[in-house]
Amino acid sequence: MNVLLLGSGGREHALAWKLAQSPRLTRLFAAPGNPGIAAHAELAPLALDDADAILGFARERKIDLVVIGPEQPLVAGLADRLRDAGVAVFGPSAAAARLEGSKAFTKALCDRANVPTARYVRCESAERAKAALAHFGLPVVIKADGLAAGKGVVIATSAAEAEDAIDAMLGGRFGSAGRSLVIEEHLEGEEVSFFALSDGQTVVPLGSAQDHKRVGDGDTGPNTGGMGAYSPARVLTPALEAQVMAHIVEPSVAAMAAAGTPFAGVLFAGLMLTAEGPKLIEYNVRFGDPECQVLMLRLDEDLLTLLESAARGTLAARPVRWRDEAALTVVMAASGYPDAPRTGGAIDGIAEAEAEGAHVFHAGTRLEGAQLVAAGGRVLAVTARGATVADAQAAAYRAVDAVRFPSGFCRRDIGWREIARADA
Ligand code: ATP
Repeated sequence: MNVLLLGSGGREHALAWKLAQSPRLTRLFAAPGNPGIAAHAELAPLALDDADAILGFARERKIDLVVIGPEQPLVAGLADRLRDAGVAVFGPSAAAARLEGSKAFTKALCDRANVPTARYVRCESAERAKAALAHFGLPVVIKADGLAAGKGVVIATSAAEAEDAIDAMLGGRFGSAGRSLVIEEHLEGEEVSFFALSDGQTVVPLGSAQDHKRVGDGDTGPNTGGMGAYSPARVLTPALEAQVMAHIVEPSVAAMAAAGTPFAGVLFAGLMLTAEGPKLIEYNVRFGDPECQVLMLRLDEDLLTLLESAARGTLAARPVRWRDEAALTVVMAASGYPDAPRTGGAIDGIAEAEAEGAHVFHAGTRLEGAQLVAAGGRVLAVTARGATVADAQAAAYRAVDAVRFPSGFCRRDIGWREIARADA
């Protein structure tokens, strides 16, 4: 099969690495890709918002499957455009991508399908939104409806902060993403990510992970795209996972199908494990980054076959095979990230790091001549397996220490929650 993978981050490098192992693969193309992905795929200079060019390329190269990594092209309808032209695509339609693209849409689906989630109201005027605050305690959560690059959520600890957030969001800080907002109850508990694969009807679990959003050790400092992750997250026990499938994921997929907008792709559920059981915080409609990197290291079967069967509506209702090991990834970022990352810094030592048994996935790199340099905020995702999360952590940091990236930094405590639990 000829496959075209779209995206350019660490997530896509991990997908490319795994796809390249498929015995069914003929040629793998990636667009726009990155220097790490180039080790597994032929890169094509296609922009993700240029559907005509992508379709033209797919026809010219006889692409059998397009795999879409990031959310923006999904929300913009790229999968529909390709599918309408007869190209098989892994990734949901624009109608199904509303599960990530609109928080109000997902809340309404939760109501219809009886999916446990935080109590909420949806508001389009500041006056109504401020009046609604009276129905919630503190802290209270204020969310812009649309995609806001992870910045559209404010957890307000005072009424004044909540009112400021309402004014800022409805006042246009996020453009059309903030035309309406959701105010919701603050849930208490531990957060965990859960992934499921669906072809629109059948849905199978893809396992759990926990990420580290804050930039600093001990979960301090500003939020980022994610500084590291590990899988599995044992806090999501098999019994809890079964509850999540039965009460959250399966009813959501069934409600999407019943509405005539079946969800086919990876459904990434952000969950809060509350005293009343797991509750849905949000859905994403693609693999997480960096969660994808740890899932790919644990997956013990052919990724291409899995993605193709989800794309073609032939997904088998059977458990996916996983290695009986943990995986952990440490993100190495450019100094100044997330506010003002300093790009251009030289990176060396990747071969030495991989000789330690780890996989160094490129997230934001480019070549200047023969020299690899940082090209984004998050630069590398150094990923390793081990018998336990503690073993995977030790292996990942051995590899991190072999990378020479003087203008970069990373957290030194990825996995702390799981390791503290194992020690307890
Ligand atoms: P991202 O995609 O970056 O995770 P997002 O902008 O899509 O973020 P959410 O995931 O809905 O927004 O919220 C971001 C974070 O805010 C969550 O990961 C969680 O930590 C916190 N959060 C959101 N809703 C709640 C809630 N009701 N109770 C407690 N915490 C919440």
